[in-house]
Amino acid sequence: MVDVKAIQSAADAEITPFVEFLESIPPGSELNVSDLGKPLKNIAGQHVGYRFSAPDIQLHCSHNSCNGNRFFRCTNGEINMDSAEPRLAYVRYVCSNCRDVEKIFSIRIVLNRNSTAGKAYKFGEIPNFGPSVPSRLMKLVGPERDLFLKGRRCENQGLGVGAFVYYRRVVESQKNRILDEIIKVSRKLNSPEPAIEKLEAAKKESRFTQALKDVKDAVPQALLINGVNPLLLLHSALSDGLHERTDEHCLEVATSVRVVLAELAERLSQALKDEVELTRAIARLMSPASNSDSAS
Ligand SMILES: [Zn+2]
Repeated sequence: MVDVKAIQSAADAEITPFVEFLESIPPGSELNVSDLGKPLKNIAGQHVGYRFSAPDIQLHCSHNSCNGNRFFRCTNGEINMDSAEPRLAYVRYVCSNCRDVEKIFSIRIVLNRNSTAGKAYKFGEIPNFGPSVPSRLMKLVGPERDLFLKGRRCENQGLGVGAFVYYRRVVESQKNRILDEIIKVSRKLNSPEPAIEKLEAAKKESRFTQALKDVKDAVPQALLINGVNPLLLLHSALSDGLHERTDEHCLEVATSVRVVLAELAERLSQALKDEVELTRAIARLMSPASNSDSAS
């Protein structure tokens, strides 16, 4: 016979470390959490209660000088807590590297009696919970940033049709902006003029999927993703109609569109950077001072 009580108490006993609760549990569920508080002592060393533990956490920081996972430190952790007494708090974290980007959690904590563990509930967080969007991708989608983030929110919650429609709208409306970025890189890399003309012509093509198809062999080598033109990848994903497709299928396609866009944004920026470095290297080698250095 199945012992329901035993299963229930095993589930209750599952404990999430507080760091993990803050970093990777979405708002809206109450969990058993360890290390919520630390014992508080008076000058005589007597135990007088607990204080919020305010652990350091690691989050993605979107600041230009960070752009990766960084430690965030709590700036308002001086919160005293009593056992079994619910505590509501807004806790503020700041990136320890740039000291600019912040994260605020709204939480409710109830400590177990005589324990640093207890139950925690997350009401919400700012910026919203979820994997972050790379800043280069945000720059590429430009004015459609908000629409793109709505797509990202749908994708996070498994809403495939919604994510697909938002992403398609963003790519359609920002087609010329994306083409302009590709043209900029093509010029820097001295792409053949006919290829650049094709890219320019695609900007005037009002039929969106046709425009992407027209430039299938006009994109510079440096921007290819595993040897494939990213615009062709976007074309094949976005020309796939929504009709009779399952939500799961749309979610897969939407994720692919986002991944391709992120990779394209990364390659556009890398191609320009490489070009700047190459120009600098050539200038250095060609300058008379450097020649005499290398001769000595
Ligand atoms: Zn930072």
